[in-house]
Amino acid sequence: MDGILSGDALDPYRTPQATTCWWCGSTEPLTHEHKFKKSDLSRMGSADELVWGGDELRKIRSIRKSKDVRFNASLCARCNNTASQPFDNAYDVFSEFSWSNTSLKDAEHVDWWDVYGSNWQSGSLNLARYAVKHMGCRIVHDGYAAPDSLRSFLAGAPTTEISLGLVKSSEHLNLYLMGVRDGIETRGLWNPSAGGSVSRSRQCLTGYWSATIIGFVGIAFLWEEGQSAAEYFHTQRVKPLRLH
Ligand SMILES: [Zn+2]
Repeated sequence: MDGILSGDALDPYRTPQATTCWWCGSTEPLTHEHKFKKSDLSRMGSADELVWGGDELRKIRSIRKSKDVRFNASLCARCNNTASQPFDNAYDVFSEFSWSNTSLKDAEHVDWWDVYGSNWQSGSLNLARYAVKHMGCRIVHDGYAAPDSLRSFLAGAPTTEISLGLVKSSEHLNLYLMGVRDGIETRGLWNPSAGGSVSRSRQCLTGYWSATIIGFVGIAFLWEEGQSAAEYFHTQRVKPLRLH
C-alpha cells in the first residue's frame, strides 16, 4: 500500500549517507551546498543580527559555515563550484529580484524578462537547475537517495518527474505585511518542512516536495517517480506566481 508521510514516519525509508558525490559519482572529498546562501544572508545583516528560527530562536554562529546554513557534504568540489556556477549566478539574480521587488505581493505572474532580460531563457533554465541541485542536496541531507531524474536534468535532459513552480507563501506574505504595518523588517529565508510519498511494498520514496522561500516568494519543488508531465518552468516566459 502506498501512502503520504511526513516527519518521523519517513524514517524507515532513509538510506545510509552516501560517501560519493550524488551528482557525478566522484569519490573526491565532498563539499557542502548552502541551505541559505551567504549572499542572501549578508543582505539581511551581519551574523550578530541573524537568528535561526527552527524549533527555537537562536543566533547563527557563522553565516558561511554554520550547520544551520549548510547541508551535509554531498557534492564534489567540481560539481558544487565549477559545474554549477551558472546555476548559482542565476539564483543570485532571481533572489535579488524577489527581495527588492516587494510589489510582487500584488503580482500574479513573474515575467522572466523582468528578471533576466533578453537572457531569460538561459537564466530561467539555470535557475531551475539551481533549484534541482538545492533539492537534491536536501533529499540526500534528509537521508534519501537522490533520484536519477535530478541528475539527468542537471546533465541537460528535458524535465521529467520534476515540477517547479513560483509561489507566494501566504504565511510569509502575512508576516511581511505585518512588518510593514509595524515598521519592522520581518522577511527572512525559509526552507519549509518537506513531505514525501512512499511505496510500502518497495520500501522506497516515490515523491518528495518542499520549497525554498526568499522573503515571501518561493520556488516550490515536486519530484514524483514515473511522472512524465512535469510542469513547465523555464520554457514559459510568463510564469504564474501562485498564492500558496
Ligand atoms: Zn560531483
